[in-house]
Amino acid sequence: MQNSMPLLEVKNLVKTFPVKGGFFGKTVGEVHALSGVSLFLGKGEIVGLVGESGCGKTTLGRTILKLTEPTDGKIIFHGKNITSYSAEQMRPLRREMQIVFQDPYASLNPRMTIGNAISEPLKVHKIVPRKELKEKVLELLSVVGLKEDAYYKYPHEFSGGQRQRIGIARALSVNPKLVVADEPVSALDVSIQAQIINLLSDLNQQFGLSLLFISHDLKVVRHISHRVMVMYLGRVMEVLDAGDLSEAKHPYTVSLLSAVPVADPKHKRKRIILAGDVPSPLNPPSGCVFHTRCPMAIERCKTEIPLLREAEKDNQVACHLV
Ligand code: SF4
Repeated sequence: MQNSMPLLEVKNLVKTFPVKGGFFGKTVGEVHALSGVSLFLGKGEIVGLVGESGCGKTTLGRTILKLTEPTDGKIIFHGKNITSYSAEQMRPLRREMQIVFQDPYASLNPRMTIGNAISEPLKVHKIVPRKELKEKVLELLSVVGLKEDAYYKYPHEFSGGQRQRIGIARALSVNPKLVVADEPVSALDVSIQAQIINLLSDLNQQFGLSLLFISHDLKVVRHISHRVMVMYLGRVMEVLDAGDLSEAKHPYTVSLLSAVPVADPKHKRKRIILAGDVPSPLNPPSGCVFHTRCPMAIERCKTEIPLLREAEKDNQVACHLV
C-alpha cells in the first residue's frame, strides 16, 4: 500500500556529537553520526534502513522523531517543518510518531499489567473515553495476535516475541501516522522474527501504517520493505526498490547482498568479504567514506565525495563508478 504524497521528508540531515576530554572537559573531537542524509517516506510505505552497526541508522531514527536534536538539515513531517520544534511544540505530534524498540522489555514497567501498560498512552492522549479503555486494549491485543488473558499478565510472563507484540500494540494504540521500528526483531529467534515481520506487514496493509524499519540485516529488511536505503558511516550509499535488490549497483550493497543466503543454488552469489572494520565515525575517511574497504576503489575515491545520483529509475547510487 503506497502513494506518492510524502509523509516524511528529511533533507541533508547532519548530526554530530561532541567528544569531551581533558581536565576541563573541552570538546576534543566530533562523532559524525549523520553527514547529509536525505530520505522520503510515502504514506503507507515501508522503507527499510540497513547498514552495519555504527552507520548512523539508529541516530537517523531518533533524530527524525526529535528524540535527539539535528545539527543541520530539515525534517518535514506531514507538511510541517518540525526541525526546530521545541519539546512543547512536539507534544501534540508525539502520538503521530511512535517508536518500537529492539528490547520492549526495557520499556515495559515490570510491575504493571499489560492491560495497564497499553491503557497508559490511551489515557495520556485521551484516545477513547475511560469506560471504553478496556475494550480498546483488548481490541489492540487481538490486532497484534495476543489472547485476552494477556490483559491481566505481567511482562515477565511473556516470551520475547510476545513482548514485541505488546510493544507494537502500545505503539499502535495512539493511531500513529509513522512508526520507527529500531531493530525490532534482532533479539528474537529466526522463526519468531518471521512472525513479527508478518505482523508489521499485515498492519501496513490493513491500516496503511507507514514504517521506517531499521535493521543491520538485509535479509530481514528486504522481506518487509517497499524500498531499501543502505547507509554506511553516516551517509546514504544506495536507495532502491526492495524488489530490485538483485540489481543493486553500489559495491557496499553488493557486498551486503552477497552475504544473504539464496534458496536457489543456481543463483548462488559469490560471498564478498570486506577487508577490515568499519572506520571510526570520529574520523571518517576522506572522499568516499567506503574507499578504505571498497574492492573497486580508484584514486578519485580518496578525495572526492560521490553524490547520491539517479542511476536508473527508482535507483539512486553514491559511487563514482556508477
Ligand atoms: Fe567504491 Fe569508489 Fe564507488 Fe566509493 S566511490 S563505492 S570507493 S568505487
